[in-house]
Amino acid sequence: MNIQMDLASKTKDYEWLNALLIDDSTVILDYVAKVLEDSFNISNCHKATSSAEAIQVLRSSKSINLLFLDLNMPNVDGIQFLEKLSQINYKGYVVIMSGVSTQIISSVESLTKNYGLNYIGTLLKPMHESDFVNIINKIGTSRKKFQSSDSLKTYEIIRAIKNDDIEVMYQPQIELASRKFMGVEALCRMVHPRLGMISPDRFIDKAEESELIIHITLAVLKIAFGDWKKWSMNGLDLKLSVNVSPISLQQPEFADTIFMLLSQFAMPADKLCIEITEGALANDPLQELANLNRLSMRGVALAFDDFGQNNSTIERLQKFPVNYLKLDKSYFIEQKGQLNQLALINSTLSIAKELHIKTIAEGVEDSAVMSLVTDMGCDYGQGYYISKPMKAKDVLAWQREWNAKT
Ligand code: C2E
Ligand code: CA
Ligand code: CA
Repeated sequence: MNIQMDLASKTKDYEWLNALLIDDSTVILDYVAKVLEDSFNISNCHKATSSAEAIQVLRSSKSINLLFLDLNMPNVDGIQFLEKLSQINYKGYVVIMSGVSTQIISSVESLTKNYGLNYIGTLLKPMHESDFVNIINKIGTSRKKFQSSDSLKTYEIIRAIKNDDIEVMYQPQIELASRKFMGVEALCRMVHPRLGMISPDRFIDKAEESELIIHITLAVLKIAFGDWKKWSMNGLDLKLSVNVSPISLQQPEFADTIFMLLSQFAMPADKLCIEITEGALANDPLQELANLNRLSMRGVALAFDDFGQNNSTIERLQKFPVNYLKLDKSYFIEQKGQLNQLALINSTLSIAKELHIKTIAEGVEDSAVMSLVTDMGCDYGQGYYISKPMKAKDVLAWQREWNAKT
Protein backbone atom coordinates (compact mmCIF):
# COMPACT_ATOMS: atom_id res chain seq x y z
CA MET A 1 0.00 0.00 0.00
CA ASN A 2 1.44 3.42 -0.84
CA ILE A 3 1.55 6.33 1.57
CA GLN A 4 -1.30 8.20 -0.08
CA MET A 5 -3.64 5.25 0.25
CA ASP A 6 -2.55 4.69 3.78
CA LEU A 7 -3.54 8.26 4.56
CA ALA A 8 -6.89 7.91 2.88
CA SER A 9 -7.80 4.87 4.88
CA LYS A 10 -6.56 6.30 8.16
CA THR A 11 -8.20 9.68 8.01
CA LYS A 12 -11.63 8.67 6.82
CA ASP A 13 -14.08 6.17 8.03
CA TYR A 14 -15.66 4.11 5.27
CA GLU A 15 -17.05 1.28 7.30
CA TRP A 16 -20.58 2.54 6.76
CA LEU A 17 -20.30 1.81 3.06
CA ASN A 18 -22.08 -1.22 1.71
CA ALA A 19 -20.73 -2.05 -1.71
CA LEU A 20 -22.07 -4.01 -4.65
CA LEU A 21 -19.58 -5.08 -7.32
CA ILE A 22 -20.87 -6.07 -10.73
CA ASP A 23 -18.60 -7.70 -13.29
CA ASP A 24 -18.84 -10.91 -15.27
CA SER A 25 -15.26 -11.70 -14.29
CA THR A 26 -14.85 -13.15 -10.81
CA VAL A 27 -11.16 -12.29 -10.92
CA ILE A 28 -12.05 -8.60 -11.15
CA LEU A 29 -14.71 -8.96 -8.46
CA ASP A 30 -12.22 -10.50 -6.07
CA TYR A 31 -9.58 -7.93 -6.88
CA VAL A 32 -11.87 -4.94 -6.29
CA ALA A 33 -13.23 -6.44 -3.08
CA LYS A 34 -9.68 -6.98 -1.82
CA VAL A 35 -8.59 -3.40 -2.56
CA LEU A 36 -11.71 -2.00 -0.88
CA GLU A 37 -11.15 -4.13 2.17
CA ASP A 38 -7.38 -3.73 2.50
CA SER A 39 -7.05 -0.07 1.65
CA PHE A 40 -10.32 1.46 2.75
CA ASN A 41 -11.75 -0.84 5.37
CA ILE A 42 -14.84 -1.42 3.27
CA SER A 43 -15.66 -4.99 4.18
CA ASN A 44 -19.35 -5.11 3.28
CA CYS A 45 -19.04 -6.20 -0.31
CA HIS A 46 -21.69 -8.01 -2.34
CA LYS A 47 -20.66 -9.45 -5.67
CA ALA A 48 -22.76 -10.09 -8.76
CA THR A 49 -21.68 -11.57 -12.07
CA SER A 50 -24.77 -10.48 -13.99
CA SER A 51 -27.14 -7.57 -13.90
CA ALA A 52 -30.05 -9.84 -12.95
CA GLU A 53 -28.11 -10.96 -9.92
CA ALA A 54 -27.22 -7.37 -9.12
CA ILE A 55 -30.85 -6.26 -9.21
CA GLN A 56 -31.68 -9.07 -6.81
CA VAL A 57 -29.03 -7.87 -4.37
CA LEU A 58 -30.32 -4.30 -4.64
CA ARG A 59 -33.86 -5.45 -3.95
CA SER A 60 -32.93 -7.55 -0.95
CA SER A 61 -30.40 -5.16 0.55
CA LYS A 62 -31.76 -1.62 0.50
CA SER A 63 -28.62 -0.33 2.17
CA ILE A 64 -26.28 -0.69 -0.82
CA ASN A 65 -24.70 2.74 -1.15
CA LEU A 66 -21.65 2.15 -3.33
CA LEU A 67 -21.75 0.36 -6.65
CA PHE A 68 -18.98 -0.69 -9.03
CA LEU A 69 -20.30 -1.47 -12.47
CA ASP A 70 -18.57 -3.09 -15.41
CA LEU A 71 -19.78 -1.41 -18.61
CA ASN A 72 -19.26 -4.45 -20.79
CA MET A 73 -21.24 -7.42 -19.62
CA PRO A 74 -23.00 -10.12 -21.58
CA ASN A 75 -26.81 -9.87 -21.86
CA VAL A 76 -27.83 -6.56 -20.28
CA ASP A 77 -25.02 -4.12 -20.85
CA GLY A 78 -23.82 -1.58 -18.33
CA ILE A 79 -25.69 1.26 -19.98
CA GLN A 80 -29.03 -0.50 -19.75
CA PHE A 81 -28.18 -1.26 -16.17
CA LEU A 82 -27.66 2.44 -15.44
CA GLU A 83 -31.15 3.09 -16.71
CA LYS A 84 -32.47 0.38 -14.39
CA LEU A 85 -30.66 1.97 -11.48
CA SER A 86 -32.36 5.24 -12.16
CA GLN A 87 -35.74 3.54 -12.47
CA ILE A 88 -35.40 1.93 -9.08
CA ASN A 89 -34.31 5.30 -7.75
CA TYR A 90 -30.90 4.11 -6.55
CA LYS A 91 -29.37 6.92 -4.51
CA GLY A 92 -25.91 5.58 -3.70
CA TYR A 93 -22.57 6.21 -5.37
CA VAL A 94 -21.73 4.77 -8.78
CA VAL A 95 -18.26 3.87 -10.03
CA ILE A 96 -17.84 2.64 -13.59
CA MET A 97 -15.26 0.03 -14.57
CA SER A 98 -14.34 -0.30 -18.18
CA GLY A 99 -11.77 -1.05 -20.79
CA VAL A 100 -13.42 0.99 -23.54
CA SER A 101 -12.18 4.29 -24.96
CA THR A 102 -12.19 7.44 -22.86
CA GLN A 103 -14.57 9.10 -25.31
CA ILE A 104 -17.25 6.50 -24.69
CA ILE A 105 -16.62 6.77 -21.01
CA SER A 106 -17.10 10.51 -21.07
CA SER A 107 -20.49 10.15 -22.72
CA VAL A 108 -21.47 7.43 -20.25
CA GLU A 109 -20.47 9.80 -17.47
CA SER A 110 -22.93 12.41 -18.65
CA LEU A 111 -25.53 9.70 -19.05
CA THR A 112 -25.16 8.73 -15.38
CA LYS A 113 -25.76 12.35 -14.45
CA ASN A 114 -28.78 12.61 -16.69
CA TYR A 115 -30.15 9.54 -15.00
CA GLY A 116 -29.77 11.40 -11.72
CA LEU A 117 -27.16 8.96 -10.47
CA ASN A 118 -24.44 9.88 -8.06
CA TYR A 119 -21.45 9.09 -10.31
CA ILE A 120 -18.04 9.48 -8.66
CA GLY A 121 -15.53 8.10 -11.15
CA THR A 122 -14.28 5.51 -13.59
CA LEU A 123 -11.71 2.78 -13.10
CA LEU A 124 -9.98 2.06 -16.38
CA LYS A 125 -9.02 -1.55 -16.93
CA PRO A 126 -6.40 -2.76 -16.27
CA MET A 127 -6.85 -1.09 -12.90
CA HIS A 128 -4.33 -0.33 -10.22
CA GLU A 129 -4.78 0.06 -6.51
CA SER A 130 -3.79 3.72 -6.72
CA ASP A 131 -6.70 4.46 -9.11
CA PHE A 132 -9.11 3.89 -6.27
CA VAL A 133 -7.87 6.70 -4.05
CA ASN A 134 -9.25 9.69 -5.93
CA ILE A 135 -12.57 8.00 -6.44
CA ILE A 136 -13.13 6.77 -2.91
CA ASN A 137 -11.91 10.11 -1.58
CA LYS A 138 -14.86 11.80 -3.27
CA ILE A 139 -17.16 10.00 -0.91
CA GLY A 140 -15.56 12.00 1.86
CA THR A 141 -18.13 13.81 3.86
CA SER A 142 -21.26 12.80 2.00
CA ARG A 143 -22.21 10.22 4.56
CA LYS A 144 -24.99 12.54 5.67
CA LYS A 145 -26.94 11.80 2.53
CA PHE A 146 -27.52 8.27 3.61
CA GLN A 147 -28.24 8.86 7.23
CA SER A 148 -31.89 9.11 7.90
CA SER A 149 -31.06 10.76 11.23
CA ASP A 150 -30.13 13.82 9.22
CA SER A 151 -33.67 14.14 8.08
CA LEU A 152 -36.16 15.55 10.56
CA LYS A 153 -38.50 13.16 12.35
CA THR A 154 -42.14 13.11 11.38
CA TYR A 155 -43.20 14.51 14.74
CA GLU A 156 -40.84 17.46 14.25
CA ILE A 157 -42.46 18.21 10.91
CA ILE A 158 -45.95 17.97 12.38
CA ARG A 159 -44.92 20.27 15.23
CA ALA A 160 -43.53 22.82 12.79
CA ILE A 161 -46.73 22.82 10.76
CA LYS A 162 -48.86 23.19 13.88
CA ASN A 163 -46.71 25.96 15.35
CA ASP A 164 -46.47 27.93 12.11
CA ASP A 165 -42.73 27.34 12.02
CA ILE A 166 -42.70 27.20 8.23
CA GLU A 167 -40.95 30.13 6.64
CA VAL A 168 -40.44 31.12 3.04
CA MET A 169 -37.38 32.66 1.42
CA TYR A 170 -37.39 34.15 -2.07
CA GLN A 171 -34.79 33.93 -4.78
CA PRO A 172 -34.96 36.40 -7.67
CA GLN A 173 -35.19 35.36 -11.28
CA ILE A 174 -34.13 37.84 -13.92
CA GLU A 175 -34.63 38.18 -17.64
CA LEU A 176 -31.12 37.65 -19.02
CA ALA A 177 -31.25 39.89 -22.10
CA SER A 178 -32.60 42.94 -20.27
CA ARG A 179 -31.42 42.03 -16.75
CA LYS A 180 -34.92 42.93 -15.62
CA PHE A 181 -36.19 41.53 -12.32
CA MET A 182 -38.89 39.13 -13.43
CA GLY A 183 -40.00 37.17 -10.41
CA VAL A 184 -39.09 35.10 -7.39
CA GLU A 185 -39.07 31.45 -6.47
CA ALA A 186 -40.51 30.66 -3.05
CA LEU A 187 -38.22 28.32 -1.11
CA CYS A 188 -39.43 26.72 2.05
CA ARG A 189 -37.57 26.67 5.40
CA MET A 190 -38.48 25.28 8.78
CA VAL A 191 -37.57 26.82 12.12
CA HIS A 192 -36.59 24.16 14.60
CA PRO A 193 -36.70 24.98 18.33
CA ARG A 194 -33.22 23.59 18.89
CA LEU A 195 -31.57 23.48 15.47
CA GLY A 196 -32.75 26.79 14.08
CA MET A 197 -33.36 27.30 10.36
CA ILE A 198 -33.60 23.97 8.53
CA SER A 199 -33.12 23.55 4.80
CA PRO A 200 -35.82 21.78 2.78
CA ASP A 201 -33.45 18.94 1.90
CA ARG A 202 -33.90 17.76 5.46
CA PHE A 203 -37.67 17.58 5.54
CA ILE A 204 -39.29 17.67 2.07
CA ASP A 205 -38.53 14.01 1.24
CA LYS A 206 -39.73 12.92 4.65
CA ALA A 207 -42.86 15.05 4.34
CA GLU A 208 -43.52 13.51 0.94
CA GLU A 209 -43.46 10.01 2.42
CA SER A 210 -46.47 10.92 4.50
CA GLU A 211 -49.01 13.38 3.23
CA LEU A 212 -47.54 16.13 5.39
CA ILE A 213 -46.19 17.78 2.26
CA ILE A 214 -49.74 18.85 1.41
CA HIS A 215 -49.87 20.91 4.60
CA ILE A 216 -46.44 22.37 3.97
CA THR A 217 -47.38 23.37 0.44
CA LEU A 218 -50.53 25.02 1.70
CA ALA A 219 -48.58 26.94 4.34
CA VAL A 220 -46.03 28.04 1.72
CA LEU A 221 -48.76 29.14 -0.68
CA LYS A 222 -50.50 31.25 1.96
CA ILE A 223 -47.31 32.93 3.14
CA ALA A 224 -46.06 33.52 -0.40
CA PHE A 225 -49.37 34.92 -1.66
CA GLY A 226 -49.42 37.26 1.35
CA ASP A 227 -45.89 38.44 0.57
CA TRP A 228 -46.75 38.83 -3.11
CA LYS A 229 -49.63 41.06 -2.12
CA LYS A 230 -47.34 43.30 -0.03
CA TRP A 231 -44.85 43.61 -2.90
CA SER A 232 -47.64 44.38 -5.26
CA MET A 233 -48.92 47.15 -3.01
CA ASN A 234 -45.40 48.56 -3.07
CA GLY A 235 -45.43 48.70 -6.85
CA LEU A 236 -43.46 45.49 -7.44
CA ASP A 237 -45.03 43.47 -10.23
CA LEU A 238 -43.53 40.03 -9.77
CA LYS A 239 -44.15 36.55 -10.94
CA LEU A 240 -44.22 34.05 -8.07
CA SER A 241 -43.00 30.48 -8.48
CA VAL A 242 -43.91 27.83 -5.95
CA ASN A 243 -42.60 24.25 -5.78
CA VAL A 244 -45.36 21.70 -5.73
CA SER A 245 -44.77 18.01 -5.23
CA PRO A 246 -46.65 15.35 -7.23
CA ILE A 247 -48.48 14.28 -4.06
CA SER A 248 -50.19 17.65 -3.87
CA LEU A 249 -51.01 17.52 -7.56
CA GLN A 250 -52.71 14.20 -7.07
CA GLN A 251 -55.22 15.76 -4.69
CA PRO A 252 -58.50 16.23 -6.58
CA GLU A 253 -59.06 19.59 -4.91
CA PHE A 254 -55.61 21.04 -5.61
CA ALA A 255 -56.58 23.35 -8.48
CA ASP A 256 -59.62 24.62 -6.58
CA THR A 257 -57.49 25.39 -3.54
CA ILE A 258 -55.22 27.50 -5.73
CA PHE A 259 -58.16 29.33 -7.30
CA MET A 260 -59.57 30.05 -3.86
CA LEU A 261 -56.26 31.42 -2.59
CA LEU A 262 -55.74 33.51 -5.71
CA SER A 263 -59.09 35.18 -5.22
CA GLN A 264 -58.55 35.58 -1.49
CA PHE A 265 -55.32 37.51 -2.13
CA ALA A 266 -56.62 39.19 -5.30
CA MET A 267 -53.66 37.80 -7.17
CA PRO A 268 -54.02 37.39 -10.94
CA ALA A 269 -53.56 33.77 -12.01
CA ASP A 270 -50.89 34.71 -14.53
CA LYS A 271 -48.65 35.94 -11.72
CA LEU A 272 -48.33 32.39 -10.40
CA CYS A 273 -46.05 29.65 -11.64
CA ILE A 274 -46.14 26.10 -10.35
CA GLU A 275 -42.78 24.31 -10.41
CA ILE A 276 -42.88 20.58 -10.68
CA THR A 277 -39.97 18.21 -10.77
CA GLU A 278 -40.12 16.64 -14.14
CA GLY A 279 -38.72 13.30 -13.04
CA ALA A 280 -41.39 12.91 -10.41
CA LEU A 281 -44.27 12.87 -12.86
CA ALA A 282 -44.29 9.15 -13.39
CA ASN A 283 -47.14 7.62 -11.33
CA ASP A 284 -50.83 8.10 -11.87
CA PRO A 285 -50.59 11.16 -14.07
CA LEU A 286 -54.32 11.54 -14.66
CA GLN A 287 -55.33 13.58 -11.64
CA GLU A 288 -52.10 15.49 -11.94
CA LEU A 289 -52.83 16.32 -15.56
CA ALA A 290 -56.37 17.35 -14.73
CA ASN A 291 -55.14 19.77 -12.06
CA LEU A 292 -52.37 21.15 -14.24
CA ASN A 293 -54.68 21.66 -17.21
CA ARG A 294 -57.27 23.41 -15.09
CA LEU A 295 -54.61 25.70 -13.65
CA SER A 296 -53.13 26.32 -17.06
CA MET A 297 -56.49 27.22 -18.59
CA ARG A 298 -56.90 29.93 -15.97
CA GLY A 299 -53.47 31.33 -16.77
CA VAL A 300 -51.27 29.78 -14.09
CA ALA A 301 -47.86 28.96 -15.57
CA LEU A 302 -46.13 25.63 -15.25
CA ALA A 303 -42.38 25.11 -14.98
CA PHE A 304 -40.51 21.83 -15.27
CA ASP A 305 -37.87 21.94 -12.55
CA ASP A 306 -34.40 20.37 -12.55
CA PHE A 307 -34.49 19.60 -16.26
CA GLY A 308 -31.56 17.40 -17.20
CA GLN A 309 -31.41 15.70 -13.80
CA ASN A 310 -33.51 12.58 -14.22
CA ASN A 311 -35.12 10.96 -17.18
CA SER A 312 -35.90 14.29 -18.74
CA THR A 313 -37.49 13.73 -22.06
CA ILE A 314 -38.77 16.05 -24.68
CA GLU A 315 -41.78 13.76 -25.23
CA ARG A 316 -42.96 14.43 -21.71
CA LEU A 317 -42.76 18.13 -22.37
CA GLN A 318 -45.38 17.84 -25.05
CA LYS A 319 -47.84 16.07 -22.78
CA PHE A 320 -47.98 18.88 -20.25
CA PRO A 321 -48.96 22.51 -20.61
CA VAL A 322 -45.39 23.60 -19.84
CA ASN A 323 -44.39 27.26 -20.03
CA TYR A 324 -40.92 27.16 -18.51
CA LEU A 325 -38.06 24.74 -18.42
CA LYS A 326 -35.57 25.12 -15.59
CA LEU A 327 -32.16 23.81 -16.59
CA ASP A 328 -30.75 21.99 -13.61
CA LYS A 329 -28.02 23.74 -11.69
CA SER A 330 -25.66 20.77 -12.05
CA TYR A 331 -25.17 21.80 -15.70
CA PHE A 332 -23.55 25.01 -14.53
CA ILE A 333 -21.93 23.92 -11.31
CA GLU A 334 -20.53 20.39 -11.38
CA GLN A 335 -20.29 19.91 -15.11
CA LYS A 336 -19.45 23.49 -15.94
CA GLY A 337 -17.74 23.99 -19.26
CA GLN A 338 -17.78 20.38 -20.38
CA LEU A 339 -18.16 20.38 -24.12
CA ASN A 340 -20.75 17.64 -24.36
CA GLN A 341 -22.77 19.44 -21.67
CA LEU A 342 -22.74 22.62 -23.69
CA ALA A 343 -24.04 20.70 -26.68
CA LEU A 344 -26.80 19.22 -24.55
CA ILE A 345 -27.80 22.62 -23.18
CA ASN A 346 -27.76 24.06 -26.69
CA SER A 347 -30.04 21.42 -28.10
CA THR A 348 -32.41 21.66 -25.12
CA LEU A 349 -32.60 25.42 -25.63
CA SER A 350 -33.40 25.12 -29.31
CA ILE A 351 -36.08 22.48 -28.77
CA ALA A 352 -37.64 24.60 -26.02
CA LYS A 353 -37.67 27.55 -28.38
CA GLU A 354 -39.42 25.52 -31.04
CA LEU A 355 -42.05 24.43 -28.52
CA HIS A 356 -42.44 28.06 -27.30
CA ILE A 357 -41.22 27.11 -23.88
CA LYS A 358 -39.15 29.70 -22.00
CA THR A 359 -35.94 28.58 -20.35
CA ILE A 360 -34.57 29.40 -16.92
CA ALA A 361 -30.94 28.63 -16.02
CA GLU A 362 -30.53 27.64 -12.39
CA GLY A 363 -27.26 27.76 -10.46
CA VAL A 364 -25.91 30.95 -12.01
CA GLU A 365 -23.11 31.27 -9.47
CA ASP A 366 -20.66 33.59 -11.20
CA SER A 367 -20.34 36.12 -13.99
CA ALA A 368 -18.88 33.53 -16.37
CA VAL A 369 -22.03 31.38 -16.15
CA MET A 370 -24.18 34.48 -16.37
CA SER A 371 -22.52 35.46 -19.68
CA LEU A 372 -22.56 31.89 -20.93
CA VAL A 373 -26.29 31.39 -20.43
CA THR A 374 -27.06 34.86 -21.77
CA ASP A 375 -24.99 34.18 -24.90
CA MET A 376 -26.56 30.77 -25.37
CA GLY A 377 -29.96 32.42 -25.55
CA CYS A 378 -31.45 31.22 -22.32
CA ASP A 379 -34.36 33.47 -21.32
CA TYR A 380 -34.04 33.78 -17.55
CA GLY A 381 -31.45 33.20 -14.86
CA GLN A 382 -31.49 32.37 -11.19
CA GLY A 383 -28.56 31.78 -8.85
CA TYR A 384 -26.21 33.05 -6.19
CA TYR A 385 -24.53 35.47 -8.63
CA ILE A 386 -27.84 37.29 -8.98
CA SER A 387 -28.93 36.74 -5.40
CA LYS A 388 -29.18 34.12 -2.70
CA PRO A 389 -32.65 33.41 -1.36
CA MET A 390 -33.76 36.23 0.97
CA LYS A 391 -36.57 37.21 3.28
CA ALA A 392 -39.68 38.82 1.83
CA LYS A 393 -38.94 42.11 3.54
CA ASP A 394 -35.57 42.38 1.79
CA VAL A 395 -36.88 41.98 -1.74
CA LEU A 396 -37.75 45.63 -2.30
CA ALA A 397 -34.31 46.84 -1.25
CA TRP A 398 -32.66 44.16 -3.36
CA GLN A 399 -34.60 45.33 -6.39
CA ARG A 400 -33.40 48.92 -5.91
CA GLU A 401 -29.84 47.76 -5.62
CA TRP A 402 -30.16 45.50 -8.66
CA ASN A 403 -31.68 48.27 -10.75
CA ALA A 404 -28.89 50.62 -9.73
CA LYS A 405 -26.30 48.05 -10.81
CA THR A 406 -27.78 47.32 -14.22
P1 C2E B 1 -35.02 23.69 -6.25
O1 C2E B 1 -36.47 23.91 -6.52
O2 C2E B 1 -34.17 23.22 -7.37
O3 C2E B 1 -34.53 25.08 -5.68
C1 C2E B 1 -33.29 25.64 -5.98
C2 C2E B 1 -32.31 25.34 -4.89
O4 C2E B 1 -31.02 25.71 -5.35
C3 C2E B 1 -32.55 26.16 -3.63
O5 C2E B 1 -32.13 25.39 -2.52
C4 C2E B 1 -31.62 27.33 -3.84
O6 C2E B 1 -31.24 27.96 -2.65
C5 C2E B 1 -30.44 26.66 -4.49
N1 C2E B 1 -29.67 27.57 -5.31
C6 C2E B 1 -30.09 28.69 -5.91
N2 C2E B 1 -29.12 29.28 -6.59
C7 C2E B 1 -28.03 28.52 -6.45
C8 C2E B 1 -26.68 28.62 -6.93
O7 C2E B 1 -26.29 29.56 -7.65
N3 C2E B 1 -25.84 27.63 -6.56
C9 C2E B 1 -26.22 26.58 -5.79
N4 C2E B 1 -25.32 25.66 -5.46
N5 C2E B 1 -27.49 26.45 -5.32
C10 C2E B 1 -28.38 27.42 -5.65
P2 C2E B 1 -33.08 25.15 -1.29
O8 C2E B 1 -33.80 26.40 -0.94
O9 C2E B 1 -32.25 24.49 -0.25
O10 C2E B 1 -34.14 24.14 -1.83
C11 C2E B 1 -33.81 22.81 -2.10
C12 C2E B 1 -34.96 22.08 -2.76
O11 C2E B 1 -36.02 21.88 -1.82
C13 C2E B 1 -35.59 22.84 -3.88
O12 C2E B 1 -34.82 22.70 -5.01
C14 C2E B 1 -36.94 22.16 -3.98
O13 C2E B 1 -36.84 20.96 -4.71
C15 C2E B 1 -37.24 21.81 -2.54
N6 C2E B 1 -38.21 22.77 -2.00
C16 C2E B 1 -37.99 24.00 -1.50
N7 C2E B 1 -39.14 24.58 -1.10
C17 C2E B 1 -40.13 23.70 -1.38
C18 C2E B 1 -41.56 23.71 -1.22
O14 C2E B 1 -42.17 24.67 -0.74
N8 C2E B 1 -42.24 22.60 -1.62
C19 C2E B 1 -41.62 21.52 -2.17
N9 C2E B 1 -42.35 20.47 -2.55
N10 C2E B 1 -40.28 21.48 -2.35
C20 C2E B 1 -39.54 22.55 -1.95
CA1 CA C 1 -37.76 24.76 -7.89
CA1 CA D 1 -34.40 23.28 -9.54
